[in-house]
Amino acid sequence: MSIHIFFDLDHTLWDFDANSKSTLVELADEYFQKKGISLEEFYPIYKEINATLWKRWSLNDIDQATLRVSRFSLTLEALKKPDQALAEELSFQYLNRSPKKTQLMPGAIEILDYLSPKYPLHLITNGFKDAAEAKLKSTPLGNYFKEVIVSEVFGVQKPHPSIFQHALEQAGTSAEWAWMIGDNLDADVRGPIKAGWKAIYFNHFQQPKPADVPMEIHHLLELKNFF
Ligand SMILES: [Mg+2]
Repeated sequence: MSIHIFFDLDHTLWDFDANSKSTLVELADEYFQKKGISLEEFYPIYKEINATLWKRWSLNDIDQATLRVSRFSLTLEALKKPDQALAEELSFQYLNRSPKKTQLMPGAIEILDYLSPKYPLHLITNGFKDAAEAKLKSTPLGNYFKEVIVSEVFGVQKPHPSIFQHALEQAGTSAEWAWMIGDNLDADVRGPIKAGWKAIYFNHFQQPKPADVPMEIHHLLELKNFF
């Protein structure tokens, strides 16, 4: 038996913040600066609203379509420039462009090149199938993973134990051989540990490490110390 390593995608390998920001820079240029809204005003409000809506989506409080448009309509409302048609256009453009952006977290490809000859690598991502597929297709990430588990397809998100059980079955391994690496304390660290896995917290922003988190890295290349 071999160790199987499961990676998170967004904010762990695919640089969500950089890719999202560069998409919004384009959209500001093309769509909302002419309405008198600067990216500097737009971005912090959008980021906060988007995070709140993702949390609500993960609790099944809103659906995917609502999440995707409301983050723009609510941001425009907060800026006192409500415009539903513009929100829908921004949503369409964002979804079309952002997953095709290619910025990865520092060291992502180097560490995958290091790990992939030694261990089977897999991906478990909370999110949407179309976006995950575009991210894997637009970057070299698509070359490294045997199993790609997308929460939208499976129907349940990390940290629910059933998605980890499903991932083990797909990979053909068992919890004692499974390691998860990701940036989200609940989804990628506490969830897998509860399921009997080992987990490494990717603490990219160098937050204080909670006492219940056994292992962390600040940079992906530090994984070489573990594997
Ligand atoms: Mg993540």
